Amino acid sequence: MDKYCIQTYGCQMNVHESEKIAGVLQSRGMTECDDVARADIIVLNTCCVRETAETKVYGHLGRIKSLKKRDAVLIVCGCMTQRPDVAQSLAKRCPFVDIVLGTFNQSLIGDYIDRFIHTGVKTVDVWRSEKDGELRDTAPARTSGINAWVNIMYGCNNFCTYCIVPYVRGRERCRPIDDIVADVDGLLAQGYKQITLLGQNVNSYAWHDKKFIDLLKLLESDKKYRLKFMTSHPKDISFELADLYACSKNLAHTLHLPVQSGSDRILQAMNRHYTRDEYFKKIDAFRAAVPDIGLSSDVMVGFPTETESDFLQTLDLVDRVRYNNLFMFIYSRRSGTPADEMPQLDYKTKQGRIDRLIKRQFEISKSIASECVGKTYEVLIAEKTGDKCYGKAQNDTAVTFDSVTAAVGDFVNVKITSAVNANLKGEAV
Ligand code: SF4
Repeated sequence: MDKYCIQTYGCQMNVHESEKIAGVLQSRGMTECDDVARADIIVLNTCCVRETAETKVYGHLGRIKSLKKRDAVLIVCGCMTQRPDVAQSLAKRCPFVDIVLGTFNQSLIGDYIDRFIHTGVKTVDVWRSEKDGELRDTAPARTSGINAWVNIMYGCNNFCTYCIVPYVRGRERCRPIDDIVADVDGLLAQGYKQITLLGQNVNSYAWHDKKFIDLLKLLESDKKYRLKFMTSHPKDISFELADLYACSKNLAHTLHLPVQSGSDRILQAMNRHYTRDEYFKKIDAFRAAVPDIGLSSDVMVGFPTETESDFLQTLDLVDRVRYNNLFMFIYSRRSGTPADEMPQLDYKTKQGRIDRLIKRQFEISKSIASECVGKTYEVLIAEKTGDKCYGKAQNDTAVTFDSVTAAVGDFVNVKITSAVNANLKGEAV
């Protein structure tokens, strides 16, 4: 048992959870490999936010079955299997899976592997919360280059009507503020140039009398690094945070603020607790504080009962905000959520709307990129192949340029010389 292969579905939270699983396996002397056919331990860390992610897991398990070594241990964990009915049905449909875990007991994966190897008995074990057993801290085996993810909280209390997360990740739990500060200090000492704080709703972080903004102030440093966070909720993000952006040395000039819809009626049906006007006010405050801020968002089309007029309001909002980057989705039904019980739209309507939204955003991204030509940005280099450097500007704009001397992790001033669609090319100055 010396090689492991982890395949991850879903969000950054899951990517970081997989780093923690890798940390457990590496502490047992195992090394990573990216080929399931050579792996002794195969882990699928799953997502259930969209139905497509779940379907993909089943399809992929079928392929793994025919590729894997006969004695390889196959484990499925994560959000999809946190639902006990799904965990049981997966174990039945895929009897070649050896261990099925949920989200809460993943850190104990080493114990489950030992038990399986010694007894040969397959396990399906889904905890309802962390309180169901004794958990252990695990040091992640980081895989994200110059960036390090740091969890500040887990779970969510918001119950947006389309979302399964509060059911599979539990209620909000915040990590002690001193532990987070110590983690970040340690990562900066190791040379990481970007830290991304993670939580389902970071703006509701609280530890005794300390709030999210206090945490960000404590993370201010004379060391040169970029501080990012995700995800924010428009109802909770504060105007005070916009003021902090204006004077912070470390906060990257970027904000991901998921709006989901531009229609007040749909926002209410989604249980989002803000209106489009309130959203605009917050966007305006951040733009006033940091004029070059790079904005991104999540937008969902085809939510139950969404009319053409609701959708046009979403298009209008996207036009007015002019996001640098937009993650666009078709609403996907999730059983157990209130939206699943609402009247659904047909596939053709949903597909037509997402096509129109993608086209509109493409034009906006292209126009924003063309406005960058001639400007100079400080770029943090994330990758280098030969002389070709790839990195991101302070406002998250992706830039490619040539340099013989620059290295991954360097900050380099780059003048933008051309824009092809939304892709920027430049030269080091
Ligand atoms: S804020 Fe809403 S969309 Fe985000 S994780 Fe919580 S319930 Fe889901």
